[in-house]
Formats: sequence, C-alpha cells, structure tokens
Amino acid sequence: AFDVLVVGGGPAGAAAAVYAARKGIRTGVVAERFGGQVLDTMSIENFISVPHTEGPKFAAALEQHVKDYDVDIMNVQRVQSLRAGDLIEVELASGAVLKSRSVILATGARWREINVPGEQQYRNKGVAYCPHCDGPLFKGKRVAVVGGGNSGVEAAIDLAGVVAHVTLIEFGDALRADAVLQSKLRSLPNVEILTQAQTTEITGDGQKVNGLSYKNRATGEAHHVELEGVFVQIGLVPNAEWLGETVKRTQHGEIEIDARCATNVPGVFAAGDVTNVPYKQIVIAAGEGAKAALSAFDYLIRSSAP
Ligand code: FAD
Repeated sequence: AFDVLVVGGGPAGAAAAVYAARKGIRTGVVAERFGGQVLDTMSIENFISVPHTEGPKFAAALEQHVKDYDVDIMNVQRVQSLRAGDLIEVELASGAVLKSRSVILATGARWREINVPGEQQYRNKGVAYCPHCDGPLFKGKRVAVVGGGNSGVEAAIDLAGVVAHVTLIEFGDALRADAVLQSKLRSLPNVEILTQAQTTEITGDGQKVNGLSYKNRATGEAHHVELEGVFVQIGLVPNAEWLGETVKRTQHGEIEIDARCATNVPGVFAAGDVTNVPYKQIVIAAGEGAKAALSAFDYLIRSSAP
C-alpha cells in the first residue's frame, strides 16, 4: 500500500507528489492525463518567477520534477471510485484497486463549453476561457464575453480595463450577476450588454477568430459582431462526479476542504481546482497541493501505521 496516493497529475497533484516524496514516504500518482489543464494552454505568464512559458513545456517540467523523486507514476489511468477505511481504496477504470493510508484528490476542473461551430477550431486562437490568463493577449482589441453570471460579468469588468471593447452576451432575459457587479459593468463606457442573445457560431478566417454570430431570442433575428476574441464564462465543472456521495461536496460539486486541505473523510485530502478554494490558477493549485501533502504527512505521523 502507498502512504500517500495522489489522484490527478496537474499542478496541484504534481506539487503534492513532490512534497510527499520529499518526506521519504511511499508516494504514488495516478492521472488520466499527466499535466492537466496546462496542456491545453499556450502561453503562461503569471506563474511567479517564470515570466513566460508554454503549457506543454510547463507540463513536461511538472512531470520531470516528479520523476526526480521516487514516485510511482501511473499515467493514462482513470479513477472511478473511492472507498473510505483504514486503508483507503481507489478503483481504476481498468478494475485495478490501489490502496493507500492517505489520498490527495487533485482531479481539477474543466470549463463548460458552449458547443457551437468554431469553438474547438479557434480554441487558443481567439477563443479563451481564463481572463486572468489570456486577457492581456487582447490588449487594444475587441472581445465578447459569453455568460452573464458572476464570472462573466467579473470577466467583462476585468477585460474592459485592458481591451478596446467588450460585448457581454447573456442567453437569458437578464444578467444573473450580483447587483453591485452589474452596476459597475453598466458604468463602463466600452461595454455593450446583450441579453436574450444565443451564440450560434464563432467565426474566423481559418487562422484566428474574426467574429461571433448570435440570434436574438426575442425576435429570432440573426446578428454578427466583428471582434478578435471570445471569452467563454458559463461555468467551471469540477472533475468530482466520480466521488458520488463518499466525500462531502458543495452545491457546485466542488470538494469541501478546510484550511489544511482536509475533507470530511479521515485521511482524504484535496487540492486545486476540484476544491472550493477560490481563484482557479496554477500558482494557487500548486500551493494547495503542497499544503495537502504536508497535511497528509501530519495525519500519517499521528495515526498508527497499519
Ligand atoms: P488540472 O490541471 O485540471 O489537473 C487535473 C488532473 O487530474 C489531470 O492530470 C487530469 O487528467 C486528472 N484527472 C481528472 N479526473 C481524473 C480521474 N477521474 N482519474 C484520474 N485522473 C483524473 N492558470 C494560470 O495560473 N495561468 C494561466 O495562464 C492559465 N491558463 C489557462 C488556460 C486554459 C486554456 C485553461 C483551461 C486553464 C488555464 N489556467 C491558467 C488554469 C490552470 O490551468 C488551472 O487552475 C490548474 O491547471 C489547476 O490545477 P489542478 O492540478 O487543480 O487541476
């Protein structure tokens, strides 16, 4: 059995594995795709001390750092369930069962997609999901934000300070963000708000985004806006469905943790985008992963070795 089994190989899982292995305890990492979300991004400019890197390069560095230690890496393995107990059992889709004295859940999250033509084709070529990450790439350009909830309206306010013009596109009759955010948004001169607008296509020239088509749901009329970027802000989905009822989660499906990354299940910790810790960012996920590993170590030295 492992002392610490990390589920997930993104920044949170990699940091947890390095911190656990440095304590000299039996450490394993099981991941469906080592690297995680950073594999889907091109440029990363906000990981402190690294002014610029690229997603695939960053992911390779994460993996190399883990490999520098005695860690059992099980890549391209999907985990499908967890059973609590003195030895916690983690079952893989292959049917294999891994046992560990403690487990760190770091399965991350995925952006909800709008599923319209052009979204996949122009991903990272004008279609973006993270305003903190990619906002500065659109300096002086025109963008749309799809989604009028808190994250969409926050993104639009944030982007309005960087880009030339923001069109906020909401499917429903009204914005759903907090009133204070809505009034801030309405006070900005370079923002246009469209409600009852259904995005139908993200258009491009074959290389990059050049516009967005939408249907006015009240009149049925089709419209097209010329722009250079589209930020999709219709929600982030934690990769935690597979846990079912075993670990306590919020109404948004995020794993609930305390300040030490502990879940409600003894010996089970969680870190990164899959948890209820706010602000989904690499540097935050990595810090949380480190914290979870230190907490798991603390748990192990206080519990009798089986
Ligand atoms: P993830 O990176 O999501 O990793 C989760 C890991 O768990 C993966 O290895 C995955 O395969 C694995 N996993 C999931 N489910 C299972 C399962 N059932 N069984 C086994 N393994 C599983 N942040 C920044 O700070 N700066 C940026 O510039 C930036 N740009 C971004 C651009 C894009 C396009 C995207 C999508 C995100 C960006 N982010 C950026 C956000 C950042 O990538 C995340 O906050 C960070 O990766 C979260 O790390 P994590 O380890 O919690 O989860």
